[in-house]
Amino acid sequence: MRRPLIAGNWKMHKSVAETTAYLEALIAEDMPATVDVLCCPPFTALPAAAMIATGSVVRIGAQNVHWETTGAFTGEIAAPMLGEIGIGWVIVGHSERRTLFGETDATALARATATQAAGLEVIFCIGETLEERDAGATFAVLERQTGALGELDPSHLVLAYEPVWAIGTGRMATPVQAQEAHAFLRVRLASMFGGEASEAIRILYGGSLKPENARELLALADVDGGLIGGASLDVRSFSAIIRAAADCAAGEKS
Ligand code: PEP
Repeated sequence: MRRPLIAGNWKMHKSVAETTAYLEALIAEDMPATVDVLCCPPFTALPAAAMIATGSVVRIGAQNVHWETTGAFTGEIAAPMLGEIGIGWVIVGHSERRTLFGETDATALARATATQAAGLEVIFCIGETLEERDAGATFAVLERQTGALGELDPSHLVLAYEPVWAIGTGRMATPVQAQEAHAFLRVRLASMFGGEASEAIRILYGGSLKPENARELLALADVDGGLIGGASLDVRSFSAIIRAAADCAAGEKS
């Protein structure tokens, strides 16, 4: 059984004060013991977030990382620097990094490799654009984006399937679309890592996931949690999604 992971990608939202208030409220919630919970605030709030979350069930992650450990890379942050302040996770290859900041499959892999080398967990994001889906290229894109993942350590890897057209648009993938993409990815992972390792890798769905649609997506057989942007910014919404994940894990997966 894969333990569900509910991860919040806060993007460029929340000051240190807002992060503190949010995490104190989240930690005070009665959280189910069956779900892993991760919050990924902006870099400036990470030290405070890591301190507040210490001793709680909430884990803290970063939204990006550089692939080198040190050097002349103005404005960048290395994985060991994140580890030093108690950060255990990094989101890598998010579609906003790909479309707005020139992230490629190769740089995403380099970041993921550096993250694992520093002993941190990777959430590796992939997903097709609307044009690619409309052209019938979804599986070809997913195959390309996962092409070199076999170089990573599967035991410290989470995959996030995030159809680009569903991110921040209010338009989620249908359960059929989500399940078929996740099932495709599960087969891909099996070809790279073997059946047993691939069965253990969590594949998150991301794209307009919110309390209202969480159950139908999180109940799918190959959906092992969610990467949530907008709805993770509000403690009540995020907690509702966490509870939905716990309910789905307790009930039958479809
Ligand atoms: C995301 O940024 O990873 C995301 C899924 O955003 P949203 O939930 O707002 O669509």
